[in-house]
Amino acid sequence: MMTELFPKNKGQGRKFRPGAWLCRTVLVFLMFLSLLHPVAARELSPQEEAALFSLADLGPVDISPKKLVVEVFISPDPEMAACHRLLPGVWDRVQGFYGRLGVYLEKMEGGPQPGPLAPAARLRVEMLTHKDWLARSFKAFDVQPPFRLRFLQVCRDKCAFAHLPLSVVHVSFKRFQEMEFSAKPGDEAVNRDWLANLLIHELGHLLGLYHAHEFVNDPIPERLPDGKTPNFMSHHIASRTDLGCLDFQKSLMHSYLGRGKVYQQYAQVNFDPLNYLKLIKRHNGYREPGAAAKAPGKKQGRQGAVKTYDDDDADEDD
Ligand SMILES: [Zn+2]
Repeated sequence: MMTELFPKNKGQGRKFRPGAWLCRTVLVFLMFLSLLHPVAARELSPQEEAALFSLADLGPVDISPKKLVVEVFISPDPEMAACHRLLPGVWDRVQGFYGRLGVYLEKMEGGPQPGPLAPAARLRVEMLTHKDWLARSFKAFDVQPPFRLRFLQVCRDKCAFAHLPLSVVHVSFKRFQEMEFSAKPGDEAVNRDWLANLLIHELGHLLGLYHAHEFVNDPIPERLPDGKTPNFMSHHIASRTDLGCLDFQKSLMHSYLGRGKVYQQYAQVNFDPLNYLKLIKRHNGYREPGAAAKAPGKKQGRQGAVKTYDDDDADEDD
């Protein structure tokens, strides 16, 4: 049930219509990647690919503290009053969480138009009305009008998407408020913490992390070794005050932000999380939960025109 409560995106620019996506967004993105990176991604030999995508050895990881600018835009719509009220406290918690991991998120007031966003350098969070959230999600996933009704169904129980290639998190504050907030007087702190957890999780995607429940045999279980504390990249984060992060995830993040191996992995796939997961899976021997038992239906779901990448498996074991 809990996992129904917020988006199951592996974040981040899964291909809603692969052709259109490739034609536009990735091309634009490649162009600006080439500005960041003098050497563009090249075709790798099978051996090179296996070595690059192995997580067994991340190579040298620079875990020195890192600073990252995050634009935070709140829609000026009057129905966002509660968001304006909660956000300072929410941001304190987000910043505190990442600060403890050596990642300093420097908040900037975002204007209606994004500044010069870039992966691992400058990110943006947009707190939106539901209408705006849908419009921006359509655009980010490049959902054309004939597919929008079906996309609406996919979005029914979602409040946020993280788009890694765009360096943006879109949150439907309105829907989150309606679906998740406690109306009890005195519960404002509970609501604030839950919203903070949502942002912590979504930003995790923009910092190069995938879901804890993605694979059954990777080093990231859904709970910390104490068996209780939920991993912040799991779907057990509603109204918890004790999210946890593994040293391994900290290393992944720093490797990404420090332009180490994880950054090179993402650069190789043009920051497409779908491709990233495919290669991580292949070259580390990771298995998806229940893959053997329900492979046929699942594969169809994943490749179908309407499903976003992670709508299919997140809830089943909850
Ligand atoms: Zn997620």
